[in-house]
Amino acid sequence: MIDLHTHSTASDGTLTPRALVDLAAAKGLEALALTDHDTLAGIPEAAERARQVELTFVPGIELGASCDGLRDIHVLGYYVVPGDLRLAGALSWLRSCRWTRAQRIVARLNELGVDLTFDQVRNHVTSDSVGRPHVARALVEAGHASSLGEAFRRWLVPGAPAYVEKPHLTMRQVIDLIRGVGGIAVLAHPATLKLDPNELRGLLLTLSDQGLQGIEAHWSKHEWAEACLYEEMANRLGLLVTGGSDFHGSSKPEIELGLGAGKRKLPLQMFKQLQQRWKSQQP
Ligand code: AMP
Ligand code: FE
Ligand code: FE
Ligand code: ZN
Repeated sequence: MIDLHTHSTASDGTLTPRALVDLAAAKGLEALALTDHDTLAGIPEAAERARQVELTFVPGIELGASCDGLRDIHVLGYYVVPGDLRLAGALSWLRSCRWTRAQRIVARLNELGVDLTFDQVRNHVTSDSVGRPHVARALVEAGHASSLGEAFRRWLVPGAPAYVEKPHLTMRQVIDLIRGVGGIAVLAHPATLKLDPNELRGLLLTLSDQGLQGIEAHWSKHEWAEACLYEEMANRLGLLVTGGSDFHGSSKPEIELGLGAGKRKLPLQMFKQLQQRWKSQQP
């Protein structure tokens, strides 16, 4: 069993990178990727712990991108290099946009009569990458919502009154950033794009022309039948098939480490194929 999509306290997960690796080891995972939003801050700690407990570790990231009018297309980057200056520069810009946006969300909430300060949000931020989940946690703590889900539904989802979009790189920029450091670019959880199969096929054709290398067919919230459809699309385009739970810890208790589509265990084979592709593109 493996997991190629997880979050830690370096973004909006609730386990530290070290605790995440320990949980993976305790569950008997054979490989783990850490894919925090817009930051590589958790990578050194996770990599070090993985070495200690002899777990195969893949440094990763999750980035949002735009393409052909679509916004917030999530891309997973595997085997990214924390030291690369161009990548680090882009990530630092994205994170600074996140801070500005979190302040704008709080301002909107205040205009709507919700009593919340930016400091209350900051209290929930565990790293340099602030996101809507941190605002949601502050809203719950302040008694404005009874659950994270309610906080999102009332204020934070697209279309809700305190939703503020964050700037996105284009898909081409994101793919170039990931591939520029020798990494592998994979489309995350295609179901969240809410496209019909023909629209998705069209998008995948465009993205594979732009250098996309894989599809996360086996995501924990995909039905098994959906995963099979995405797998078939990947196979037709010669793209890798990957899988991950999108584990966030206790803020998304329904998600279990190591389980993908249809709540089935993610097989080692998926990691092997990713690793093989990565090795084959090394200079
Ligand atoms: P952001 O990166 O700030 O746009 O926030 C996106 C993150 O918020 C996602 O990665 C999820 O972890 C979380 N999220 C998005 N929508 C919801 C929702 N409806 N309920 C709970 N968490 C959500
Ligand atoms: Fe998240
Ligand atoms: Fe995502
Ligand atoms: Zn994720």
